[in-house]
Amino acid sequence: MTRRRDVPHVPFVLRHIGATGDYQNPVLRALGLHELEDLAAAVVPTGLPVLPPGEHGAPSAAGGLSEPEAIEALRSLASLNDPHIEMIGRGYHPTHTPAVIARDVLGNPAWTTAYTPYQAEISQGRLEAQLLFQTLISDLTGLPVACASLLDEATAVAEAVLLMARAARTTTGGAVLLDSGLHPQCLEVALARCRALGIHALTAEPAAIEDGSEDSGKKLLGAVLAHTTTRGAIQDLDGPIAAVHRRGGLVAVDADPLALALLKEPGAAGADIAVGSAQRLGVPLFFGGPHPGFMAVSDKLRRQIPGRIVGVSRDSEGHEAFRLALQTREQHIRREKATSNICTAQALLAVVAAFYAVHHGPEGLRRIADHAHAQAARIAAGVLDAGLAVEHENFFDTLSVITPGGAEQAVARAEERGYNLRLLDADHVGLSTNETTTDEDIAAVLEALTGRRPAEPEPDNARVFPLPHALRRESAFLTHPAFHVHRCEPALVRYLRRLADRDLALDRTMIPLGSCTLKLNAAVESALWLTPELAGIHPYAPSSQTHGWRRLLTQLSERLATLSGYDRVSLQPASGAQGELAGLLAIKHYLHEMGEDRRNLCLVPASAHGTNAASAAGAGLAVKTVATAPDGSIDIEDLKATLAEHGDRLAAIMLTYPSTHGVFEPQVTEVTRLVHEAGGQVYIDGANLNALAGLLRPGDLGGDVSHLNLHKTFAVPHGGGGPGVGPVAVKKHLAPYLPAGPSGSPAPEEADADHDFHGSPVMGARFGSAGVMPLAWSYLALMDDVDLRRATLSAIANANYLSRQLQDCFPTLYSGPGGLVAHECILDLRELTARSGVTAEDVAKRLIDYGFHAPTLSFPVAGTLMVEPTESEPLEELDRFVTAMRSIRGEIDEIIAGRIAVEDSALRRSPHTLDQVASDDWDRPYSRRRAAFPEPSLVRDKYFPPVSRIDNAWGDRHLTCICPAPEDVEAATGPLRSTATGSTARPTAVLTAEEK
Ligand SMILES: *Cc1c(COP(=O)(O)O)cnc(C)c1O
Repeated sequence: MTRRRDVPHVPFVLRHIGATGDYQNPVLRALGLHELEDLAAAVVPTGLPVLPPGEHGAPSAAGGLSEPEAIEALRSLASLNDPHIEMIGRGYHPTHTPAVIARDVLGNPAWTTAYTPYQAEISQGRLEAQLLFQTLISDLTGLPVACASLLDEATAVAEAVLLMARAARTTTGGAVLLDSGLHPQCLEVALARCRALGIHALTAEPAAIEDGSEDSGKKLLGAVLAHTTTRGAIQDLDGPIAAVHRRGGLVAVDADPLALALLKEPGAAGADIAVGSAQRLGVPLFFGGPHPGFMAVSDKLRRQIPGRIVGVSRDSEGHEAFRLALQTREQHIRREKATSNICTAQALLAVVAAFYAVHHGPEGLRRIADHAHAQAARIAAGVLDAGLAVEHENFFDTLSVITPGGAEQAVARAEERGYNLRLLDADHVGLSTNETTTDEDIAAVLEALTGRRPAEPEPDNARVFPLPHALRRESAFLTHPAFHVHRCEPALVRYLRRLADRDLALDRTMIPLGSCTLKLNAAVESALWLTPELAGIHPYAPSSQTHGWRRLLTQLSERLATLSGYDRVSLQPASGAQGELAGLLAIKHYLHEMGEDRRNLCLVPASAHGTNAASAAGAGLAVKTVATAPDGSIDIEDLKATLAEHGDRLAAIMLTYPSTHGVFEPQVTEVTRLVHEAGGQVYIDGANLNALAGLLRPGDLGGDVSHLNLHKTFAVPHGGGGPGVGPVAVKKHLAPYLPAGPSGSPAPEEADADHDFHGSPVMGARFGSAGVMPLAWSYLALMDDVDLRRATLSAIANANYLSRQLQDCFPTLYSGPGGLVAHECILDLRELTARSGVTAEDVAKRLIDYGFHAPTLSFPVAGTLMVEPTESEPLEELDRFVTAMRSIRGEIDEIIAGRIAVEDSALRRSPHTLDQVASDDWDRPYSRRRAAFPEPSLVRDKYFPPVSRIDNAWGDRHLTCICPAPEDVEAATGPLRSTATGSTARPTAVLTAEEK
């Protein structure tokens, strides 16, 4: 493209980095540096392959566009796509995202830039929204316990199978049956996960399951059945479910959430588990993702469910409060014994689906479902009129039209008219209707199928093809007031605002979370992601329509490969953890091809992120922990001993670089050499790439494979717990084993970055969460390699600045050469805790009173706080944090001096709500002013958390994970206000009118 030279723009890098030029000088001075570049030599241990600094202003290979240029470049890529009206189905459907949700949620940094709600007191808004999602899923499926989202439908099916094996406490001791009517990508992803773990899985028809004809005599762990099949048939599952139960297995049902508005829910049919995708509830197609996968389970399986669960608990005053429940199932606590490796999921998209349900209510969902069914019925009638037939007469929204020998031409005719249908085989065309299907669409599709256009619009034929009577839904759903009282837009706008105002996201404060890199998510980067040329495309659309997408994704993979020092990159994994899984599976397959199947051991350092161990377990590898030396680095002697003993069984080591201790470990290349000499592969967890980009490359340190997190280093916002993208980067020898697109994806072209990958898919769509990749692409279009190095060094400088400024109050636990840390530092509170009783958690909660989101609490070392300021924070924000932390240290000193007991202190009793400080009976030994305004500047811009400190254990003992009815809240906690919905009663008058 030609560069515009009309207005000289400030380089984007100066907007992205918080403190540059004169504003960065105090930071550099505090570190005794003259120039930022001097930090490179000071912080990186000698002997490591540091990249050359590059010349400032020299043209670089890529990046460095101005904001208008980047938008223009992305627009011209998008214009190479050719969006058609998507009726392919396969679990992906067009939907109208209500404009109010697009603007006030997807376009609103208060929602998009929030972090995962581990600090529950400052996350009540998004926790309520995610609880709404769980309520929606629980109601639709008829099962009581839902999680707050999974990565997509295919991974949800796979997770259901793993759950069955877990519940039966065996992987190899039985078989799992998968309904052959499931979407092909769900079968493929689930079968691959089963293969990795040695679970015996096979496909079967529900009829054969019911009459036992497939029974091989093997113990049955369970079955996954399709509620409606991929070819459109509505299935009666009562018989097959009973048959599986008789044989002692569990049943999961994969269901379309819109169909559940009309058809009998899995819970009512006796299923134990329900899975699916809530995409069609308001989430754009996004060329495959990010989409909210879901799972709901029966009460007896609640400790087995994967992913996060939002639960209801109470705060220190007994008020209703939300927080993440049953966390002891999860990877960050349970490591290789966790219920899954999922960390980042699809929180933002789950929230969109929840608000779609709030916007439409149950009668709205039924109306939309009726519409999809009626439009499908019109097409079916037109097909019959024309002398053709449909494969199933019991359908919801999907038809398989019998066109003997003519399917290919019919699909081609539709494409010419601007419609994508599904080529099932030479004799069958598949198509799915949806919320957006118009009468004009029906006429055009019928013309493509039958060769002639119907003279009149087809009448409403829902009566000709009624839903089978016995399989209709009889129960009510979405009865909670939250799904009724926000129907008019003013109410919804205010509800969204009220919830957002309860939370702290990046639009209010730095989020100094070690290991998570919450940096600027610049507005320019998300300027176009919702444009229909990008967001409106189906993942299985023909290649001829997706030139722009594939070029964008190829550019992104190539840039990531260059930056990380690898040969090839797969963009398919939708989270860091999924990237780990894909990388480890590639290693496994490579070793298998080399005849080294005996290598099945994965070494994971004690300090590793929980996903490392959980992913290794998910890949079917045995996990062995490597000890950490007193200085926080990998204990080389322990490693050598382990290699001597187990070297011949070693598959891989998983390292994090810089380490999770926030240090550039000098011996990294020695570790990678030792592992290679022992015949193992080196997995370098690249989630900390924000300390490396432009400076060091994991591939140069001896890594064979790394995953990167686009939702950390590459400026994709965290969304309150997802979406994420975890690209996996490998050296050449592993490239063939990277995940290919599921079968039925258009064949890759030579120029596509993934054209020669042959591994099994780990996601239902070839490019996973493609929809958010334009954000990372934009970041890299705006930043050239010199800019990235400058960002990296600024991030490191800021971390060292905080470490130095806080050294006398909260010493940094680990540091590397020259006493320097990498991009984050661990503040050690353990000695202070011993002297004062004040815990790291007390400090985290007290920071809320100062308006801050807490740093990472007790990871990777218990009793510490890990701080990562990133390059984006301006000096004033860093100093504001330092001031708050020093002030907190003063409060700790008062306890140490015996002036106040820790139990009575502002620290222990933090955070303080407005309700508390305005209360008529204040009996605390510190003033209200001290409680609420510990810093004078807070008087003007005060954030009050809506709840005080939350009792986590109580919530786990009294698990409630759907929106509690207002009456129940009153009964449980006494006459206290419910924060859930701001409403009191169910508007029965509205319901009786429409609910029949
Ligand atoms: C964030 C992180 C992960 C996991 O990434 P997700 O996208 O949450 O699955 C893995 N390793 C490290 C070091 C991380 O910081």
